[in-house]
Amino acid sequence: MSKVGFIGVGVMGMPMARNLIRGGHRVRAFDVDSAALEAIGQHGAAPARSARDAALGADFVITMLPTGDHVAKAVFGESGIAGSLGRDSLLIDMSTGLPAHFDATARRLESEGSRMIDAPVGRTSREAEEGTLLIMVGGDPEDVSRARPVLECMGDTIVHCGPAGAGIRTKLVNNYLSIVSNVVVAEALAIAEGAGVDREVAIEVLMGTTAGRGHLATTYPAKVLADDLEPGFMVDLARKDLGLALQMSAESDSSRSMGIAAIPFYESAQEQGMGRKDWTAVYNLVRDKSGA
Ligand code: NAD
Repeated sequence: MSKVGFIGVGVMGMPMARNLIRGGHRVRAFDVDSAALEAIGQHGAAPARSARDAALGADFVITMLPTGDHVAKAVFGESGIAGSLGRDSLLIDMSTGLPAHFDATARRLESEGSRMIDAPVGRTSREAEEGTLLIMVGGDPEDVSRARPVLECMGDTIVHCGPAGAGIRTKLVNNYLSIVSNVVVAEALAIAEGAGVDREVAIEVLMGTTAGRGHLATTYPAKVLADDLEPGFMVDLARKDLGLALQMSAESDSSRSMGIAAIPFYESAQEQGMGRKDWTAVYNLVRDKSGA
């Protein structure tokens, strides 16, 4: 079992550290919030006086902090991790921050002879409690396999996304999609209600089509990944139906910003002669920056 320094025992870090303790690891924790530190102490962690103190003699040091700035401060600031990170120890940053901040911290640490990987998490505090997080890891294969037994105490799905920094990049792509699609789902349901359709019925129907099943589970494997633009559903028809839905939503004055924002993408595809191609042709335009 390993010695783990854990920095940042907030909403996510607290249950994650608890799962490490349950997994038999010896955890030494630090948080600037003394109440959080006291709470993790009651769950069996040794409270540290500083990030440096938590990292002293640790095999792994985990940071679970709000942003990359907080991580840089915890690593290089006064009483920071860098001062006591051993050559054989591995820093695992599980925070969600800017990739450039992670890269800068990892590069500087590497120049000082220490190793760092990124392992941000998907899902919520509930999965953090249950130890069923999805963890997106970026790092050298050797570092990632060394970290795996520790990560497996906190998550049930560990995906090695690529070299150091690939985890946080994947995480931000994930958040982009889930955060933006939350708005379009909200608009779609409000349009249903505005048109007098029962919300539960609308959800039942949407869950049976590409709308609810999701492009990533349906059209993208079948069309985009297969480089197949033969129409399953044509751009021209998609543009027509988007117009119909927008007209209907205008009658109840429902919010339809996402739908309006989508128009130029379909129109660009039509202008580029792709009207009779599959609606996933939009991906090609976006990727080649020749879309809206
Ligand atoms: P949080 O604010 O609850 O916890 C952060 C903890 O870090 C706090 O206890 C704070 O006191 C401590 N802290 C701040 N600066 C510190 C420092 N220099 N040294 C030591 N401790 C310090 O946040 P959270 O919800 O646990 O999120 C942590 C990270 O995980 C964020 O990057 C967040 O975006 C990401 N995340 C959160 C969720 C979620 O559902 N909450 C899900 C996935 C990812």
